[in-house]
Amino acid sequence: MADKPTKFVFVTGGVVSGLGKGVAAASIGALMENRGLKISMLKMDPYINVDPGTMNPYQHGEVFVTDDGAETDLDLGHYERFTTEPVSKVNNLTTGQVYDAVIGKERRGEYLGKTVQVIPHVTDEIKTRILRAAEGVDACIVEVGGTIGDIEGLPHIEAIRQMRADVGPGNAIYIHLTLVPYISAVGEMKTKPTQHSVKALREIGIQPDIVLCRCEKPLSQELKDKIALFCSTSPATVFDCPDVDTIYAVPLLLNQQGLDDKIAEMLNIWSRAPALDRWQKVVATLRSSNKVARIGVVGKYVHLIDFYKSLHEALLHGGLANGGKVDLEFIDAEELNDQSPGALADVDGILVPGGFGERGTEGKIRAVKWARELKKPFFGICLGMQMMVVEFARHVAGLQNANSTEFDPQTPHPVIDLMESQRGVEDKGATMRLGAYPCKLIEGSLAQAAYQKDEISERHRHRYEVNNHYRKTLAEQGLVFSGLAPDEQLVEMCEIKEHPWFVGCQFHPEFKSKPFDPHPLFAAFVAAAVKAREAK
Ligand code: GLN
Repeated sequence: MADKPTKFVFVTGGVVSGLGKGVAAASIGALMENRGLKISMLKMDPYINVDPGTMNPYQHGEVFVTDDGAETDLDLGHYERFTTEPVSKVNNLTTGQVYDAVIGKERRGEYLGKTVQVIPHVTDEIKTRILRAAEGVDACIVEVGGTIGDIEGLPHIEAIRQMRADVGPGNAIYIHLTLVPYISAVGEMKTKPTQHSVKALREIGIQPDIVLCRCEKPLSQELKDKIALFCSTSPATVFDCPDVDTIYAVPLLLNQQGLDDKIAEMLNIWSRAPALDRWQKVVATLRSSNKVARIGVVGKYVHLIDFYKSLHEALLHGGLANGGKVDLEFIDAEELNDQSPGALADVDGILVPGGFGERGTEGKIRAVKWARELKKPFFGICLGMQMMVVEFARHVAGLQNANSTEFDPQTPHPVIDLMESQRGVEDKGATMRLGAYPCKLIEGSLAQAAYQKDEISERHRHRYEVNNHYRKTLAEQGLVFSGLAPDEQLVEMCEIKEHPWFVGCQFHPEFKSKPFDPHPLFAAFVAAAVKAREAK
């Protein structure tokens, strides 16, 4: 379709944040892709940070890492899980990046003495980046972060308003996602917030082509008619997106209402109806009562669902690979003690995910110890692997007070230490070891058995590493370094024998897991947990 113009679907959000705009956009991407179109996705974030890499987890959920080492918004995780298109740094833009580029140009004199302004200079920069994300595809789905009415989002909204004129009216549509709340006191669903939100959007010059309403229950035709009337659209362009038990049901739900047909019609795209059987299968498995394993996730921010988004999804995919659902139990590391396994006693597998900062690390080490001693399948990711090495050093290799220098710079046994390349790094932003790096797997290891490969590539986000000075001692005591960087100078994976499944990795496999392509390590970990459960 190279000679056809690229189509644009702009998705904005109204009323409140947290409506699941990312999932809605990803679902639209999934439907368009399943119709045989080549698509790309872009998230525009209005904040002034260059990327979310330095934001705290309470402010921002997970930082999603791409192969090319960009630290991006967690919605990019949804995009990769819902579609087959890999994302990279071009698929997330922030106001910080835009201003950085504009100011750079100004300093180089590229604006030829002009006064640099939001319109046209900032908006042009945004549009250039939208076009970059849309290169070579049939359709680009652009999700605008934030809520209509936010001051900081205005340049982004203005840029997408201009885009329709730039690419021609038949080549761009606007979808507005709003909330239709249910007010229990009166037992009614209210359309007023949607009316106001659409009004605010029109004040900026955008008339939504499609209004997509988030609601607890499906909207009645009467309400759809009312929304259409007040929002100057036709009832056929008002869709609803009621709460569902799994995000993977959203593409199906939208398809049933004919949303993708409507988009194709509005954009004049000739494409086949989407084949959604595999989506149906995934949803059916997730809705079945077949619970295959219970996994305890031990961490510091475990209550922050968004902070471990990809991890939770990857565990779910691990369950799918084993024909059912996994139950997740979130265990606060600080509540674990040495006397009894507590909440760990009831789980079939224990996972310690990535993390930063000292709080909770002793609890994570306890979780590793319980998993090793109780012979429960264990999976340590990034910081989780580092804690696994510390636990092994302390309790198996007899290296008293071994630690990571991140948490105890004075430790007598710095088994985890700052990477050589990180010494002297002072800036905090984008300076970790980031993105995809190759790793070779050792013959006969659990790692190799899971991947069925000798060489893999996985995404990283860390500053610390296994200290090579301790490799010999730890290996002699039985710690297997089962994954290494090609030059063998960095430990990427480790494991122990005489245990059902005890594996750690320095990278973040969760970023590459998909519902239709569960990550091999998550599939193998859950398989081990299933076995442990059956043996009970
Ligand atoms: N804090 C550790 C490091 O920087 C682990 C990072 C992580 O778990 N992502 O190496």
